[in-house]
Amino acid sequence: MSANQLNEFQDLVSNLLLRHRSLLDVLSKFDQSNASVHRSVVKAVTECGCIEIHAHKQEITSEMSMEEAQEAIKSHVKGNLCESCLEAVSGQLGRNMFYVSALCNLLDLKLEHIVEEEAKRCSTLGLFNLS
Ligand SMILES: [Zn+2]
Repeated sequence: MSANQLNEFQDLVSNLLLRHRSLLDVLSKFDQSNASVHRSVVKAVTECGCIEIHAHKQEITSEMSMEEAQEAIKSHVKGNLCESCLEAVSGQLGRNMFYVSALCNLLDLKLEHIVEEEAKRCSTLGLFNLS
């Protein structure tokens, strides 16, 4: 997504936020949408079964190179989202982004700036500082 698309999305959210102008409403809707993202992923595992979780302790050490660590760290996900679950998870993530953008609007923050700053932070931090 380009910076311009982020700005357009933020403007669109601003125009649509007639009913949810209260910071408290937006915060609670943001929390609710976050829970819905989690729920859609959980349902992909427990109801559909298109993905499975195979979790175990990550076997990495601070002596590993970045390449070795990236090779060793597992996602714990087996399989891929089916079309239906992909649509459900994507939809919930989109709704969540709507409320992230709404929160930015209410607090006079630019989504574009936040994404740029986070990208800079990610590119300058080492693997073991990204938590
Ligand atoms: Zn599925």
